Amino acid sequence: MSRTLLSAWLLLCLFISNEGGAQTMRTKPIRVLIVTGGHDFEREPFFEMFRSFEGITYEEVQHPQAHARLTPEAGKQYDVIVLYDMWQPISEESKEAFVQLLKAGKGLVALHHSLASYQTWDEYRHIIGGKWHMEKWKQNGTERPPSTFQHDVQFKVHVVDSKHPVTRGIADFDIRDETYGNFEVLPKVRPLLTTDEPTSNRVIAWAHAYGRSRVVYIQLGHDHYAYENPSYRRLVWQAIRWVAGR
Ligand SMILES: [Zn+2]
Repeated sequence: MSRTLLSAWLLLCLFISNEGGAQTMRTKPIRVLIVTGGHDFEREPFFEMFRSFEGITYEEVQHPQAHARLTPEAGKQYDVIVLYDMWQPISEESKEAFVQLLKAGKGLVALHHSLASYQTWDEYRHIIGGKWHMEKWKQNGTERPPSTFQHDVQFKVHVVDSKHPVTRGIADFDIRDETYGNFEVLPKVRPLLTTDEPTSNRVIAWAHAYGRSRVVYIQLGHDHYAYENPSYRRLVWQAIRWVAGR
């Protein structure tokens, strides 16, 4: 083989291996950090749902160990945070680190009771896009009673925009789940799901941005009735993919 031919051959090999590299990058699994603690849940069917998701790997961290993982440095180890905790104590240092991590850009999917975390940390409301209030609260100067919950409700869920990447391909569906009422939803969020169920707020899932992070909150998800619901599973999976930028 001549020197020129050999060079051309080597270049071709390099090109192919780079293409292979790019392919690997594109199909690399999304690494999810699932934060739990402060609220009981049915562990086995919950994690079974995550094991069924194509293209993701996950790791669970429980409070009080979770805050050490929610920092810009520790955040290099995962692509998406899923909050399924309901936790109150947080140091000023941990607040700062979590905000920095999100401002720089890290996908966040907040589920169900995570809406009630950090009652005395006002910024958390802005991160999630809403708040389940344990105490009386004020909306535009009007006093509102504490938020409510109701277990084992059978109700209809309406998909607001079936073209949004989080709800794409999901039609209106029925679910048996816990509802929350009278919780706060910030005006800046983009509603994804609504319901007419009287024990629930109308808007029960939304998307928004916090710093450079995509954020999705889904109120649904108390127990196996939700985890096993095909529409719920698809919703959580598509939310993870969308906040990861896939
Ligand atoms: Zn619940």
